[in-house]
This record gives sequence, C-alpha cells and structure tokens, in this order.
Amino acid sequence: MDEVDQSPVDQTVSTQELVAREINERFPVSTVLVRESKAGQIFEIHAESKLLLVLDKKGARYFIPSRRKRNITWEKVTSVGLSRLIDSILRDLAEADYEVFSIYHKQLLKRPIHISRYMRCPECKESGSVKIIFRGDSLLNENSELYTPVPRSIELNGAKIKCTLCGWVGFRGQLLKKIRTPRIS
Ligand SMILES: [Zn+2]
Repeated sequence: MDEVDQSPVDQTVSTQELVAREINERFPVSTVLVRESKAGQIFEIHAESKLLLVLDKKGARYFIPSRRKRNITWEKVTSVGLSRLIDSILRDLAEADYEVFSIYHKQLLKRPIHISRYMRCPECKESGSVKIIFRGDSLLNENSELYTPVPRSIELNGAKIKCTLCGWVGFRGQLLKKIRTPRIS
C-alpha cells in the first residue's frame, strides 16, 4: 500500500491567523496576543506596548498611530490578494516608522518624499543635503542617496526629513525654495 501524502498545510488555520503569523514574522519586534471570542479567534498585533492591529474573522482594524483609520475585510480576497494585503499592511507599518521586512528579508522603506535639489534647509540654507528619515541605526548603502538613518531612541515628533549637513529635522513644507534672482532689464 502506498503511503498517503500528508499535506503539511493546516486546513484549520483561519485567515486572521495566517495574516497574524505572516505579519509577526516580518515585523520582528511585534508580539501577537490571541483572544477567544464567540466569532472565533482574535489576533492582536502589539509593538512597543502599543496595540497596532486587530485581526478577526471578518478582517483587520488599524490602530497604527499617525495612520488614518482603516478597516480591511477578508471577504472575497484570493490568496494572491491576501499576500498583497499583508504587504500593504506592512507598508503602512513602515510608514509609521516600524521596522518591517519584505518576503525577501529586506527592510521595507517609507514611500519617498520628493525633495528637489533646489529646496534648501531652513537652518543652514544649503540645498542638496536634505534626506528622508529612516528609523534605524544603519542603512544599506544603496538607500543612502534618498534616506538618512536616525536611531529609534531619538525622539523626532513626527519629523520626516533631516538635513545631513546641520542636523535640522522637520517637514517638507518647511524647506526654503530657491530664491529667484531678479531679472535686470
Ligand atoms: Zn541644514
């Protein structure tokens, strides 16, 4: 008699558990708490003692600070759609300065903010020195063109960009625009 192929796939795993496991794996500092409810298991994703996500039978709810409120439903999501959904949740976490990784174990970066080379730092008035803040102690060389690392231990009060010359941190809207030299007619 031939051996029956034992599928390693656990058919009893719920969507919320699948998503919780995947997020937990790609978000190393996160912890997952499981609560039992009448409507099945509820998974809570926490990090740095903050509740960030609640995953239940129906979908996901956001509690990510600085991200707008969002609810996601699993309904009609295919397995391909589900991995995209997990990616987009992780991107939102990256955007909120959490250290998360892609399926290729590369750190997900925030969406770039466009800074023209003519925009100048409001502090030292230099241009070309302002970069997007990346929360972490170090950065891969390939990303150092656009991003500059700032350790998580440093409080930034939401600042998004940093001048690598003088250390100023702030927002894009605070940058000085190029001053036009008046035309002499
Ligand atoms: Zn500066």
